Amino acid sequence: MALTIHVLDYGDIELETSFLVLGHECGRIRRVPVYGFLILGGTHPVLVDTGYRDNAIMESLGMRGLQFHDNMIENQLAKHGLKLGDIRYILHTHLHIDHAGKDDKFPMNTTVVLNRREMEFSVSGIMYPQYPKPDIMHLVERIYEPEAMRFLDLEITGAEEIIPGVWCEAAGAHTEGSMNVIVETAEGLACICGDVIYDFNDQIVNHVHTNNWMEPRVTGNHSGSKREEKGAIKKLLNNYTFLLPVHDRPAKIQNQQVVGRLAMTVPGPMSETVPERQWFPM
Ligand SMILES: [Zn+2]
Repeated sequence: MALTIHVLDYGDIELETSFLVLGHECGRIRRVPVYGFLILGGTHPVLVDTGYRDNAIMESLGMRGLQFHDNMIENQLAKHGLKLGDIRYILHTHLHIDHAGKDDKFPMNTTVVLNRREMEFSVSGIMYPQYPKPDIMHLVERIYEPEAMRFLDLEITGAEEIIPGVWCEAAGAHTEGSMNVIVETAEGLACICGDVIYDFNDQIVNHVHTNNWMEPRVTGNHSGSKREEKGAIKKLLNNYTFLLPVHDRPAKIQNQQVVGRLAMTVPGPMSETVPERQWFPM
């Protein structure tokens, strides 16, 4: 079975650079994409993440949303000949404001799949403003509808299969319940890694503000320890041929290094190659 991942473009957001990469270019505004991922070729269409509700809701975090007509989830799915009701499963890397904003557009027989720890964490108040009330209240509604919600217990079970060739694993980074979605493709394993990585260039290729060799720089937005964040990124670089974060273009990995970037389909042709990092001792 040849599974392919198609990147959906839900619009951009503008935010401060040090939110993405810890301590980097404080005060500078960066515009980044918000992606979703459509997994096709399997027994059922599977969608990963649904983007942010609307431009106004991003202002509650002091960020700017740039979502236009073409970015509407209906229009992004229509490019692949699909309607909302055709999606069998929605998987969430996590439930932050820019990842689960459109679930209420989907029928209740589309099953939303979450790591249970992320649902608990979303209402814990620890990262409160990043979990907006309408998104979380809708997910609570789904708990009470038959088959509208499926909880995973990834910290206990390890990997859980969703359809053949697609499974979830605890990410161990970004938020306490974040999960990675792994897809078996014809060219190797691809991992949709949510916000465990925000920016390949600054965190991994050049790893800014770090001295040691192969020392990924953590993001400016996480709920665990710095070491857990670094370890989770290293695990991704060790285990997968393709990495697909939500706010940067997909990357191809070889020997724990980013060797190329891809456009909107994985597997697919590389849009650019990335030279190995030069080592300049400080
Ligand atoms: Zn995000």
